[in-house]
Amino acid sequence: MAALVSPSSLVRIRPRRVAKAKTSKPRSPRDWPGQLRESIRSVDQLARVLDLTPEELEGARRAEREGLPIAITPYYLSLCDRHDATCPVRRQCVPRIDEAHEVPGDLVDPLGEVDHEVAPHLVRRYPDRVLLLATDRCAVYCRFCTRSRIVGDGGGPVPLDRLEPAMAWIAAHPEIRDVIVSGGDPLAMATDRLDRILARIRAIPSVETIRLATRVPVTLPMRITTELVRALRKHHPIWVMTHFNHPKELTPASIAACTRLADAGFPVMNQTVLLAGINDDANVLETLFRGLVRARVRPYYLLQADPVRGTGHLRTPIAKGLAIVEQLQGRLTGIALPKLICDTPGGKGKVPLSPDYVVARGEGTTTLRTFRGEAVTYVDPPRE
Ligand code: SF4
Repeated sequence: MAALVSPSSLVRIRPRRVAKAKTSKPRSPRDWPGQLRESIRSVDQLARVLDLTPEELEGARRAEREGLPIAITPYYLSLCDRHDATCPVRRQCVPRIDEAHEVPGDLVDPLGEVDHEVAPHLVRRYPDRVLLLATDRCAVYCRFCTRSRIVGDGGGPVPLDRLEPAMAWIAAHPEIRDVIVSGGDPLAMATDRLDRILARIRAIPSVETIRLATRVPVTLPMRITTELVRALRKHHPIWVMTHFNHPKELTPASIAACTRLADAGFPVMNQTVLLAGINDDANVLETLFRGLVRARVRPYYLLQADPVRGTGHLRTPIAKGLAIVEQLQGRLTGIALPKLICDTPGGKGKVPLSPDYVVARGEGTTTLRTFRGEAVTYVDPPRE
């Protein structure tokens, strides 16, 4: 894995450690309720299992008091390097004091979800689809979370009767064809609760597809049980939108979770968020995307990180993503190459970004630059 570390992280001076690694990591229960029960949720627990840097220790203390709380499953913790704070998995789940710093452009609600709420727990930003926020809980709280303003704030799964106004709104708007169930993480809910929510959505005749936006295959893969898959497949077509960010997250357990979903007929799509010092490197992303395709997961979006308040240290300039995509174009098969997307601040919608491959436009001709850098002219068909 060392070869996959980004050049920027290679030159970073490893921060001084303050807390000694005294004990072994907590035992990792094989079942998902046990994983949730034994998750790391406090500074003390964190300091017992990782050599925390001063920046992490301060960040964790702050997270305990305010902002996005800490939750790390024993499984996801097992992917973290105990001694190295630059570990790409650790950086996604361990708070840093940088979260206290706001930078220009930061927003509490970067996608304007509050302004686009059409019913309680229901967000509409596009003509044909809506987002149902069914819970505020996740297995792991990701430090870059777009919804850090609400996740983990203690509400838990929303009872079905409180989702009824959202369901009624969807039923009254037949132009809505696609419901994305998110939160929080819908797969962190009990199976019967999720089953009831999906059955209620399926009872709306105009809804064609349901999508489950989940990080559970990455952070809690043992949650993808036979029982869960059996409950979900009753409500097909369901698409699973997952969220792998680094090749270290592609473990035998997470690959088995994706295989179980794919075998049960769920198309599995992946959204990777571009994160500074974690995956902002063409080699890292090439390894991730190739691994996802082998696991029958389609790399769907490479997302420019949303300007969430307190995540400036994790964001990259737009030019970085464009440069990476340019490096991967032609090097990766089309099924392994996601679209680079910027979800525009304020909830105005996603915009695809692409390097410019058009060199010149003439009368009926367009000269294009190939991935090898050759200029090739395409001639339009003659006009009638
Ligand atoms: S799992 Fe999703 S909703 Fe939950 S903290 Fe991570 S990014 Fe946010």
